[in-house]
Amino acid sequence: MKVLVTGGAGYIGSHMARTLGEQGHDVVVYDNLSTGHRESVLSGRLVVGDLADTAALDALFAGEKFEAVAHFAAHIVVDESVREPIKYYRNNFVNALNLIDTCVRHKVDKFIFSSTAAVYGIPDRVPVTEDALLLPINPYGASKRMVEQVLRDVSHTTGFRYVALRYFNVAGADPQARIGQKYKDATHLITVSLRAALGLRKDLKVFGMDYDTPDGTCIRDYIHVDDLIDAHMLALGHLARGGRSRIYNCGYGHGYSVKEVAGVVRQVTGIDFPVSETGRREGDPPALVADSSLIRAELGWVPRHDDLAYIIKTAWEWEKKLYGRDEKQIKEKNR
Ligand code: UDP
Repeated sequence: MKVLVTGGAGYIGSHMARTLGEQGHDVVVYDNLSTGHRESVLSGRLVVGDLADTAALDALFAGEKFEAVAHFAAHIVVDESVREPIKYYRNNFVNALNLIDTCVRHKVDKFIFSSTAAVYGIPDRVPVTEDALLLPINPYGASKRMVEQVLRDVSHTTGFRYVALRYFNVAGADPQARIGQKYKDATHLITVSLRAALGLRKDLKVFGMDYDTPDGTCIRDYIHVDDLIDAHMLALGHLARGGRSRIYNCGYGHGYSVKEVAGVVRQVTGIDFPVSETGRREGDPPALVADSSLIRAELGWVPRHDDLAYIIKTAWEWEKKLYGRDEKQIKEKNR
């Protein structure tokens, strides 16, 4: 298939472009390189452009006959979305609307959307199922929920079909460490912990120890990026076979607390990096764990890497490569 991957120079999108290329698909990556990197595009052609530029999008769609679009390009930092809501609504909602509109006008009828567990807000029941109420507690989750609404409405009136995948906490990297998370100011727990282990940060600050969870820290369902990409490939196959629009949770169905994650990072790296406690971060629900029975039953998704140590190990190999550190240097620094 000829597939457009927006945000394909970013963390998850670059893994998708890689897999599409490896499986013989024709890939075009569209990315404004605001947080993505040219060298992360391992397969296909990179077009540098912004989704706000509707004329550029139109020209791209007129020139290339895409069969499907996988839309990854978005801002993803929850507390930033609380501080800068307009930035999030503009990029995550308005730009997605531009893209969906362009798809409909150019008769591209297969669309895969990177949604998020943040659409649930603080769920009544954990593990959460797809039919739970959508009550996001931050602009990031709200902006993604709004896109889901547009997808639902557009698919009712046109031949346009979509699969929205609600990601839980995506982590880990390509097993050969060719690509991974490359944000300069990373905020995600596993990356922050690994950078503390590398000595690039003073410590890991735990945001809140007084949550209503067994050890007082928040619980998340961490999923390896390659299992998430498998879910996308299955979703693409589903749409290619004429399958109807669907929404699926993507997580393993069990979670780890912040303290537990820090413990596994210590085990994997062998480094007892400093951990400090601080207040709660705005917009954080206490526990988010996926019930992923639906995607398992309907698309036959079977995770291959449901192992937190493996997830952290692949992220660790990537971080060491990214910062050019080897084991000897790291040990010396931590002596
Ligand atoms: N977290 C933390 N310290 C950090 C980064 C994250 O304690 O430096 C916590 C955060 O409060 C949340 C969990 O780790 O409970 C996962 O946060 P992350 O930012 O990785 O993902 P999110 O769940 O916000 O998408």
